[in-house]
Amino acid sequence: MNMWINGTWTKSSSGETLEVIDPATEEVLDTVPAAAPEDVDQAVAAARQAFPTWRETTAVERASLLHEAAAAMRAHFADLSRQLTLEEGKPISENEEEIDWALNTLDYYAELGRDTRGRVIPSPEAGQLSLVLKEPFGVVSCIVPWNYPILLLLWKVAPALAAGNTVVVKPSRRTPLTTLRMIEVAFQSFPPGVINVVVGHSAEIGDHLVRHPNVPVIAFTGSTAVGKRIAQLTAGSMKKLHLELGGKDPFVIADDAPVEAAVEAVAYAALINAGQVCTATERVYVPRPMYRDFVEALADRVARLRVGSGLDPTIDVGPMMADVYRSKVERHISEAVEKGARVLTGGRRPPHLHRGFFYEPTVLTDVNHHMDIMREETFGPTIPVMAYDAFDEAIALANDTDYGLGACLYTHDASRVRRFYEHVQAGTIWINDPLTDNYAGPFGGMKMSGLGRELGHEGLEAFRQTKHVHWDIDGGVKDWWYPYGGPTES
Ligand code: NAD
Repeated sequence: MNMWINGTWTKSSSGETLEVIDPATEEVLDTVPAAAPEDVDQAVAAARQAFPTWRETTAVERASLLHEAAAAMRAHFADLSRQLTLEEGKPISENEEEIDWALNTLDYYAELGRDTRGRVIPSPEAGQLSLVLKEPFGVVSCIVPWNYPILLLLWKVAPALAAGNTVVVKPSRRTPLTTLRMIEVAFQSFPPGVINVVVGHSAEIGDHLVRHPNVPVIAFTGSTAVGKRIAQLTAGSMKKLHLELGGKDPFVIADDAPVEAAVEAVAYAALINAGQVCTATERVYVPRPMYRDFVEALADRVARLRVGSGLDPTIDVGPMMADVYRSKVERHISEAVEKGARVLTGGRRPPHLHRGFFYEPTVLTDVNHHMDIMREETFGPTIPVMAYDAFDEAIALANDTDYGLGACLYTHDASRVRRFYEHVQAGTIWINDPLTDNYAGPFGGMKMSGLGRELGHEGLEAFRQTKHVHWDIDGGVKDWWYPYGGPTES
């Protein structure tokens, strides 16, 4: 497949290509162009040229195009879900959910984008009009990771386009195929240049796109390391940054929680997409009196999960994305074990799967905050569980991290719920229903987990700048203008 620039399928100007690998088989799925910086320039120029007309296109017309794109994705639902499973690896049901969420985001922002253009505020004097106008910025660069390539992309593209911006999209080199297929089935009818996709190695084109003088907004989801780099590269440029970064989410179990339900909740929250979710549970805190029962039940539950190819509808956990990420999981587990942790289940590559980047879902006990597995983002199928004595201690442990993306709690005690959501520093708090998103619910991180919010009204505002217009309709001379202290003699 080729790149989509200015309404045309385009090869890389260097002629270079890159291979996209199926993480379940390690086989090459397809090749795509590896863009050169000149291709990025071409995409930005196309987006810049398309901007004045797209900005003037009525909000109702923009909404219609977004709804049509959603409908086209719905019509190709099975095809897109399968393509995503092949390149990303997670179970097909999780990919169906991703495509469903993503296309509904188009519908949501189509409507939100045509709802308001700002507001009228009271004027200082009679006979005046004061408007607060919301305007697009221009070209928005949307850079996304491989773990939810369509969902995270449309969380940016839908509000950015609805607000009247044009976009240059850069998917991860590991998962460009579903993005290109989505353009083919759903976005080809957009005016040329409104949406462009460049594909390539971040080392070749990442910095170039981020630094580009004609890109005033960078909407980025990815690791904290790359987010910091983007902030450094753009310091001094006054570009607007939205950074959705890494996490190390805690899950606190209160002493009134029903063990069986809490075990199910933790297994799901930690292992969805083989733990490769920014808001995956990466640390679990359990009251000491119920610790042994809890970890045994959890290990039993996790050991019964089926690991295999995401195309098989009976499997629960697919492969990891690449060997480099699996190696990090192995390093975290071995360092924890060296420091005294115990592996209750998992802790190895599945012996029956000879190809693919699989790793067994793993439960660890006797962990503490001196271990990397409790401090650094693991981004894999691990569940380290630690005991606590008092609920306030659990809150302190939940906050003992550089990150602040999400946090989960299981309890039916309202007072504990309130203490948790008042004191835990995280952008999203889930009580008894981990990781459920809401189009209307702003999503993003505190601390090193990022800047800005996606989804909800905040997710649209991220792509609109505010202008205050003050208009005195008759325009008479004001008595507070010069000269001060009354008329001067001529
Ligand atoms: P990554 O930071 O390596 O890459 C993310 C994207 O940035 C990719 O498209 C990559 O090609 C690009 N990139 C890399 N270097 C760049 C540079 N110098 N300039 C511009 N672009 C560059 O992350 P990843 O490994 O693809 O994804 C996993 C990470 O993403 C995890 O840390 C995870 O927590 C995070 N994530 C965060 C959220 C969130 O909403 N907060 C959601 C999903 C994933």
